[in-house]
Amino acid sequence: MNGKEYVQSVLEIVKSRNEGEKEFHDAVTEVLKSLVPVFDKHPEFIEAGLLERFIEPERQIIFRVPWVDDAGIVNVNRGFRVQFNSAIGPYKGGLRLHPSVNISIIKFLGFEQILKNSLTGLPIGGGKGGSDFNPKGKSNNEVMRFCQSFMAELYRHIGLDTDIPAGDIGVGGREIGFMYGYYKKLAGANDQGVLTGKGLSYGGSLARTEATGYGLVYFTEEMLKDNGNSFKGKTVVVSGSGNVAIYATKKATELGAKVVALSDSNGYIYDKNGINIDVVKDIKEVKRGRIKEYLEKVPTAQYVEGCRKIWEVKCDIALPCATQGEIDKQSAEILVKNGTMAVSEGANMPSSLEAIEVFQSNGLLFGPAKAANAGGVACSSLEMSQNSMRLSWTFEEVDEKLQLIMKNIYKNSSEAAKEYDQEKNILVGANIAGFMKVANAMMLQGIV
Ligand code: NDP
Repeated sequence: MNGKEYVQSVLEIVKSRNEGEKEFHDAVTEVLKSLVPVFDKHPEFIEAGLLERFIEPERQIIFRVPWVDDAGIVNVNRGFRVQFNSAIGPYKGGLRLHPSVNISIIKFLGFEQILKNSLTGLPIGGGKGGSDFNPKGKSNNEVMRFCQSFMAELYRHIGLDTDIPAGDIGVGGREIGFMYGYYKKLAGANDQGVLTGKGLSYGGSLARTEATGYGLVYFTEEMLKDNGNSFKGKTVVVSGSGNVAIYATKKATELGAKVVALSDSNGYIYDKNGINIDVVKDIKEVKRGRIKEYLEKVPTAQYVEGCRKIWEVKCDIALPCATQGEIDKQSAEILVKNGTMAVSEGANMPSSLEAIEVFQSNGLLFGPAKAANAGGVACSSLEMSQNSMRLSWTFEEVDEKLQLIMKNIYKNSSEAAKEYDQEKNILVGANIAGFMKVANAMMLQGIV
């Protein structure tokens, strides 16, 4: 069997065994197709049934999360934790709280996380979790009661050396605080390294909040430099206005770019003078408000209803930082028509497979999520190291390590692309570089 036949046969297993899980199918398809040359070169992987094991999570936990709201009504949500692959280290990956969460989304995120974590060069395996709970519009007490109920089950499945969750959409410092407090009560131990994204007063790392957005810009700057360019003087569009979007905007602006648009799930703002990120931080981080409130402070800006239209704004560099599936083929074609030179993904799987095809066939530089947004998990791993050593690094120390990690991710992805005759295809390079480390570890550990 050659590489192509092997990948095709495994994709059929994925589809028949995981019916209706579109996001998971898409993520696996994108990765496996790019691994075909690896199996041509390494037939021993085929003999060891490596892919059949790689696409099957080691463990999936689904549980009931009951909680009582402020009106005294009982609510029941569904909780998930998928422990996907521990070949190179304990499971590591965020928790997402959003009404769209289901097993397909958690599996796609967990699968991507395996490769992303491997790319960081740090000893962490892949996992992901969350719930279909919607934190929007809930009181602090409701969020706390939900987080406590969620942790009442999750705590028995996680641990310093087994599984270390972190934040994702809907899970920031507040939620991690509630979860850690309850974990500590149940476990009876101050295992700080069991969750990352903690507050600075109880084991958090400086620069963790900034890490994904900053890391995205560091990675993209490397990609631009390798092609004789940089952020300096460029017009940038960033989607979303959450954690990743805010810090990507801040760092891109520091590097001399002008970020002209940001969005939330209702619409986008356009500020031709460059977004004032402090105003956005106040709206989103302090007031938990809507992006259109930006106009109250900057009346010269414009607000457009409908978040997808943000890709109609002319830009040199697009940084999708909101959510999966936010750039379809049509939006990709608009970006190409407007002369965009680079798209780099802050969110997980924001571009559809068709959109990626449009970018690549038109010669745009493309930074895939698993490489470009790995700064968050890399910094989480640095948080774990600090917790184990019981010391804290300065912001500058963490930021310096982050920059080095992002540069190495670009270098390793780019070299793997060259080795497999796919020069400039960072998507293929990242998939291969991330996969090889995990595959080698799996080969050495026998059939498990
Ligand atoms: P947040 O919850 O902080 O922010 C998400 C933002 O995206 C919000 O502004 C939200 O708006 C907006 N949004 C949601 N859906 C849409 C949509 N369809 N169109 C436009 N905007 C939308 O999440 P994060 O910033 O943490 O995460 C963003 C992405 O980055 C996710 O894909 C996540 O998996 C990924 N990521 C995050 C990491 C991290 O460290 N935080 C690490 C690696 C990846 P609204 O307020 O209206 O909901």
